[in-house]
Amino acid sequence: MKLESLFPDKAFPKDQIPIIAGPCSIESRDQIRTTMRRLRESGYRVVRSGVWKPRTEPGHFEGVGEIGLQWMREAADDYGMLIGTEVCLPYQAVLALRYRCDFVWIGARTSTAPFLVDEIGKTLEGEDIAVLVKNPISPDFDLWRGAIRRLQQHGMTRLAAINRGFALGSKGLLRNIPLWYEVDRFRRELTDIPFLCDPSHISGDAALLPEVIDEACRHRYEGLFIESHYEPTTALTDAKQQITPEEIDTILPHSPLNGAAMLHRLRDAIDDIDDELISLLYQRSALTQEVGGWKESHRMELYQPTRRDEMIRDLRRRAELTGLSSDLVEELYTTIHHYSLAQQQDNKKQHEDSRDEDRPH
Ligand code: PEP
Ligand code: MN
Repeated sequence: MKLESLFPDKAFPKDQIPIIAGPCSIESRDQIRTTMRRLRESGYRVVRSGVWKPRTEPGHFEGVGEIGLQWMREAADDYGMLIGTEVCLPYQAVLALRYRCDFVWIGARTSTAPFLVDEIGKTLEGEDIAVLVKNPISPDFDLWRGAIRRLQQHGMTRLAAINRGFALGSKGLLRNIPLWYEVDRFRRELTDIPFLCDPSHISGDAALLPEVIDEACRHRYEGLFIESHYEPTTALTDAKQQITPEEIDTILPHSPLNGAAMLHRLRDAIDDIDDELISLLYQRSALTQEVGGWKESHRMELYQPTRRDEMIRDLRRRAELTGLSSDLVEELYTTIHHYSLAQQQDNKKQHEDSRDEDRPH
């Protein structure tokens, strides 16, 4: 199914990937109005913005609430635009309907909660509204599918999914990891659902948007869900990843250079990890040499097969738990262990030789 079929005719710019854009959060009447006017002037008609922001930690800006919907509705009527917001609770869905939102989206922190999705679905039942479902924060595709299916059970037919990346605790360049290939497999399973890509929450940084968008285009996403603010540096939420309405067009062309730049950045990140691995291996080797010295002074055998087997078993299990290949880990550690032992034996031999030299002839 095409994303276009979820929205009325002419909702999306022609000859271009469909785009839904707007500020992360509505902050003031002037902010949403100016941003929407400039989006309209740049050729975009479908606007996203949050009025309820489920923040990870308390004490941060959590959105202006209902009044924001009123401001967005006014501007939408004035500029002829379609609007949508995130709903996290059923009463928010009621308000989204009251302000005639054309769509709502279920955020990454809500698509993890089956009862909430159910309640929101119940509230929207029988209403003419599109619903977009973001992936859950963690890569649980069953939960994502479950959320979509629950909405279908409540009669929602104008449904789409959004890949906003997954929080994998990585210290890489991207804020959330898009898992392109895993999501592609999931898309092949849900052929009735159009998929959008949210490059803003994947990249977390406006500078990385072109590369992420390039990749989304290569993976043939049916649309983009982009955060755009009239003055990104002043944004109360997600300032670093937002761009102005005028900038959207400039980052859309996907030149081969962007792909190459992404490859470069990815390789740089891999080089950093390898650096860290080398340093860790060095630290490990210093410790195993110390252990060798201890065994020597306690007249223990350097090779301890039980310890080796336990270690490999434990590492295989840890690899399984993280999704790494346990065979790879066993192979790596067999090599590492082999070299540690060789080094301990070398050290022992050197100690013995130097003791021999010290002995009076
Ligand atoms: C958003 O789109 O502004 C948002 C909060 O997204 P997510 O649920 O993906 O974090
Ligand atoms: Mn945001």
